[in-house]
Amino acid sequence: MNRLAMYLRLSLEDKKTVPDDISGQKEESNSIGNQRKQILEYIHHDSELAKYEIMEFCDDGCSGTNMERPGMQKLLKEVKKNTIRCIIVKDMSRFSRDYIEIGTYLNQIFPFMGIRFIALNDHYDSREHQGSTIEIDTAFQTLLYDLYSKDVSVKVKASFENKCANGEYVFGQAPFGYEKSREVKNTVIVNEREADIVRHIFSLALEGKSSTQIAKQLYEEQIPTIMQIRKPGRKPQDGKLQTWSSQAVRTILNNRFYLGEMAYGKSVRKSVGSSSGRAVPREDWKVIPAHHEPLISEEIFEQVSAFQPGHSTKRNREKHPLTGRLYCGGCGYSLNYKPIRGKNKYRRFECRKHALLQIPDCCTYMNADLLEETVLFMLNKELMLRGNAMKQRENLYSFQKSSIHMLKKKLEEYRHEKKQIQAQKDALYERYALAKLPAAEYRSKAEKLTEKLSSLSAAEEKASGKLAGLEKEYQKAEEDMKQIIRYTHMEELTQEVVDAFIKRVYVYKGKRVEIEWNFRIFL
Ligand SMILES: [Zn+2]
Repeated sequence: MNRLAMYLRLSLEDKKTVPDDISGQKEESNSIGNQRKQILEYIHHDSELAKYEIMEFCDDGCSGTNMERPGMQKLLKEVKKNTIRCIIVKDMSRFSRDYIEIGTYLNQIFPFMGIRFIALNDHYDSREHQGSTIEIDTAFQTLLYDLYSKDVSVKVKASFENKCANGEYVFGQAPFGYEKSREVKNTVIVNEREADIVRHIFSLALEGKSSTQIAKQLYEEQIPTIMQIRKPGRKPQDGKLQTWSSQAVRTILNNRFYLGEMAYGKSVRKSVGSSSGRAVPREDWKVIPAHHEPLISEEIFEQVSAFQPGHSTKRNREKHPLTGRLYCGGCGYSLNYKPIRGKNKYRRFECRKHALLQIPDCCTYMNADLLEETVLFMLNKELMLRGNAMKQRENLYSFQKSSIHMLKKKLEEYRHEKKQIQAQKDALYERYALAKLPAAEYRSKAEKLTEKLSSLSAAEEKASGKLAGLEKEYQKAEEDMKQIIRYTHMEELTQEVVDAFIKRVYVYKGKRVEIEWNFRIFL
């Protein structure tokens, strides 16, 4: 259905500033009527938009800090039904005041649903922003994307697949070496700057260099990394050098997209409502050949693949999502996965060197269910912490926190100082009472101290009022963070989850587990 949604919102704050409108002339610029007028005007001047059937969604007197608004909920319901092609708002902040929320919708949900989003006063039109994203960690984005899509009906998934089958490129970003075309929707074109690097990597691999050697050479040649090219504004963390990783090189060398092929259907949802997908074996992927301009010839690709170790897939062996990432904390060797078979009554992991080396610190074995549970628990906790920390950083909540801290310290200082002055006053009186101090001198000194005390009290009162306000604000921030937590609960340890978040898992004697995380850009 070709429907366009205009979303209007008036907050209580806006209402306060609307003057009593006796003449009917002096309308405040944010009034519902004005928002509607501005949007309709825009639609009528755009021949494409004018063809749409217009639906209006409105929230009168609702805050934009959460999505629990009746009009917004109606709109999102329509979005999920996939009846809306375009959403127009006057300002981004009309839609939501939550930075993360906006990012999620703009970068993930709307592109995924094929919805165009226009914010008039922000001069934002998603059509002109394809491929570029607001800075949110990609792993986190994927997560949000996954969790959102579980709500989306099968119908939508079908239309997504239909689009793929039609050869449309409906994924977030084009692979390195390509970019989304600005002229033709959902197609990719070669990005020459990136493509040169891709070709260079293949030519090095053709010389027989390993991915590690290639990564090293790229660094020596000062070839910018994917991140440096695609997110130039982003600063490397803790002053670390940004370098090509052998993993990034391998990903490029194994990507058949460079042959002009587009593959889709790489994962399926296990069931409606499940939070993550199951990986589909490569031979079952749907592939469209000659989908776009290739960067690499078939011969070169095959030749390079032959050099690449570890790509000969042993398909018959039962694979565990953690395979290849699990290590014995005692001896450092990898752990073997043993499925239920013969004498084995439960799935488990075993240190493969324990029998041979007889190192007492080896973890010997661990029940696979227990390990999965443990890893999942640790992952959820880590996601929660990082989610919180991210939210804090993005919204400068940490600033509030330090302000609260400083105010508390200041209050303590005031109280301490007051006590001291009171003590001075008492001492002064004692001297006067013992006739060690003339009355006139006592009075003038005592008066000064009293003045000091009352000015301190005033300062104290002011600071504690400010503190109360800040603490209330901070509490609100914390509620926002809880929203993030809601998003970051993984229920199953699938291959995708492991690949996205976990680098290595060490199992120690006594079943203690340590995890090396794979969060790339995060904090
Ligand atoms: Zn061991």
